[in-house]
Order: sequence, then C-alpha cells, then structure tokens
Amino acid sequence: MNPAKVCTRLSLCLLVVCLTANFTTAQRRSSPPRNRSITGIVREIDARNIERTIRQLVSFGTRNTLSEQNDPKRGIGAARDWLYAEFMKAAEASGGRMTVEKQSYEQAKAERVPQPTIVTNVVATLKGTQPESTARMYVVSGHYDSMCNTPVDAKCDAPGANDDASGTAAVLEMARVMAKYQFDATIVFMAVAGEEQSLLGSTHFAELAKQQNWNVDAMFTNDIVGNTLGGNGVRDRSNVRVFSEGVPSNETPQEATTRRSVGGENDSPSRQLARFIKEVGDSYVAQFKVMLVYRRDRYGRGGDHIPFLERGYPAVRFTEVNEEFRHQHQNVRVENGVQFGDLPEFVDFAYVANVARVNAASLAMLASAPSRPKGVTILSARLSNDTELRWDANKEPDLAGYEIVWRDTTAAVWTNSQAVGKVTSFTMKGMSKDNFFFGVRAIDNDGNRSPVTYPRPQARQRPAAAPTTTSTPNP
Ligand SMILES: [Zn+2]
Repeated sequence: MNPAKVCTRLSLCLLVVCLTANFTTAQRRSSPPRNRSITGIVREIDARNIERTIRQLVSFGTRNTLSEQNDPKRGIGAARDWLYAEFMKAAEASGGRMTVEKQSYEQAKAERVPQPTIVTNVVATLKGTQPESTARMYVVSGHYDSMCNTPVDAKCDAPGANDDASGTAAVLEMARVMAKYQFDATIVFMAVAGEEQSLLGSTHFAELAKQQNWNVDAMFTNDIVGNTLGGNGVRDRSNVRVFSEGVPSNETPQEATTRRSVGGENDSPSRQLARFIKEVGDSYVAQFKVMLVYRRDRYGRGGDHIPFLERGYPAVRFTEVNEEFRHQHQNVRVENGVQFGDLPEFVDFAYVANVARVNAASLAMLASAPSRPKGVTILSARLSNDTELRWDANKEPDLAGYEIVWRDTTAAVWTNSQAVGKVTSFTMKGMSKDNFFFGVRAIDNDGNRSPVTYPRPQARQRPAAAPTTTSTPNP
C-alpha cells in the first residue's frame, strides 16, 4: 500500500509520517543519486597532464611499430619504456592493487610487417575489491604506435599527436586518477601497439582473453580523440562520437534467425554499452555530450575494439566529431602554405581531458555497479498483451534490485524505467512486447546502475498433445 495515499485518507495520521512518506515517494521519482567517487575522478582529470604526455610521446620522433626498439630516445621502444614507467608511477597510489606489465609477443611476417617484430602492449590492471566482481573486467585502451603516410616506413617522423597519443594520454591520465579509488570490478588501462599494422596488439589481448576465459564485460578504444577543428571547417569542442555496432560481429546463424523473428538489430550488448556511456557521461561531465553513432566504426574503417567484438566482448570506439585528414597518416611537411602532419599544435588538450572524463565516469560506474543481468528472457509461450520478463539472480552482496526499462521501437535510447525490487521476474501489465522494446538492469545499494540487458525470447513451451505444431510461429 502506498503510505502517501494512507495519509490523505486518514486525516488523523501524524504530519511527520506524511512528510516521510512524501519524501520517499519523491526520492523514488528523482534521478539516481550522484556517485561521489565519480564526481571526484571527473574533477581530478587534468588537461595539463594530458598535454605533457602527448608532447612526450611526440618527442620520440616516431612510434611506428617497426621502428627502433632499443634506442632510449627515438622509436617505439623508448615510448614503450616511458609509458611503462608512467603507469608504474600511477600504480603507487593504488596500495598494491594496480599491477603493470609489458605484454609482448613476436608477430610473424605479415602484410604490414616485413619481418618478425616484437609487439608490446603496456597493461595496467587495477584489481576490483569485491570478491564476487573482481573477475569482471573493463578494458580501456589507446594505441601508442604511429605512422606517417605508410605503415611500413619506420624511419620518417610520425608524431602521431592525435592518432593516437591523444587516446594513450587519456588512458594514462585515467589510470593516474583512478588508481587511488576502489571499485568492485577490475579495470584494465592499456596502451597497445601495432594498431596501424592491422590491430595487432589489441588482437593479441582479445585472443588471450578468450583463451584464458577472462570475463571482459566491456571494452573502450580511444583513437583520434583530440582534434576539434575538422577538415570541413567545423569547430566542435562539446561532443565526442561513440561508435557501436548493431548486429553483433560474432552473431551465429541461430541468433540471426531469432533476431529476425523478434527484432534486436538495434540492441546488441555494444549498443547497450554505448547508451550507458551516454547516460553516465552526459550526467557527470558538464557541457559535454556523447554523440551516439549507430555503426561499428567510421565508414568502412576499423579500430582496436573490433578484435574484441569478433570474440563476443561488448566494445565501442571513441573519436572526435570532425576529423582533419591533413593531420592523420601524413608525412610532416608544408605544401602550398598548408601544414600537413599529426602535430601537437593541432590537438585540443582540454577536449581530450573531457573525453577522458566521459571514459572514466563510465568505467567507474561499470566497475561500481552490479553486473548487467544474465539470462534475461521474455516469455513468448502464450499470446498476451502483458510482457513477462525473467532473469537470473545477480550474485553481488550489495545488490538492491532491478529496473525494467522500455522504449518505443523507433526510439534511439531507453526512455522509461521502473524499479521492480529484488525479484527475478516481472510482468509489465497491459504493455505488449509487440509494441515496445524492453530491457533489465541491476542496481546496487548506492544507486549505481548496470548497463541494460536486452532479453532473448524464452523457447516456446511444447504442448505435449500437439508436438508437430510447435515450430510454426503464431501468425
Ligand atoms: Zn589510430
């Protein structure tokens, strides 16, 4: 029974009870409580550190994956060692929870690798503190390798200030700030190499994750996140694109059949992740917005999230809104008075800091919230105008309950939500699964929300009397 209603009916009820009841009702309707750690992290991220990192990475002359590995001043080896030392410094604030490693392998000769080459990712892992969540892992990366106009030129100057010292600097700054905070789940801060050689470092990590059965619950790549004046003349300092795929890269033929039957091409786990990032980023980073782009990457192009997608891990790409191609993959030169090359003077460091803030806020929320619900299904056994949802119980001890979210089928993002308590099934009365998309998310005692899980139809119950009719959909 609603206590507020009781109060209106019973004139004798105490004023204090009414006030309490009204407060509770109002609280239920208001937006989620602010996570103080996230506001702290967002405040502490500093554009000056990002600028310093980008200038330092540029100072190594080139960071081409095929460049010098043992020269302390020039080449990818110098950049690798410098990054390793910086992540080690960041780890000091973690009280032993952050470990740093150089994750290396020998890449055999390949199209963009003329001879066998050592590829090294610098990986800083901040271990989660909740036993039920520590195996759940969130990966954020930038690529520290660079190129000029060809990926196999190891000698030319390739400053790579925007592509992708910007993403690398964002990740390092996140590690520095977040190392002293505690999270339930584990966060991996990573600078990868070999991106320009066909996503080598990220593929190595994603494959390792798959073979070792790591629970990578989400991955973000930050690539080209620092230029705010596009080649189209448009200046945009207030938005960042987040690319997410619709149909999963690893979808099986059986899953495709199900999707064609019930919908879901706009509801992959990566798309839920992108919507989650927009919700968190827009609410924690002032005067800065996530621009959702509903495709895997820019037109016909790729990035370090793709090896993760191909192995079934939800992943998205962050990139500035308007690119300037005179400053990407170009030899540094002046032509007809126009400066070509990926130089630091074309990077907007304050903008990179805002991109880092959106990443960090989202990672902090992911790693603080319960896991997104598993085993979420919609019962489709009988025709009904109600929508009956079921899911598995979460394991986290601080779980408060769940929310059902929904939207019109033509809406781009979730528009409605309803708290349903600590249950594992719920029926939306009078709301037809034909007319809305539904999802379920988990909430902890502090109000931290997981990304949404989009349900699968629960296999049709076969009536024993008529087994032959069961493979035909209800018309
Ligand atoms: Zn790049």
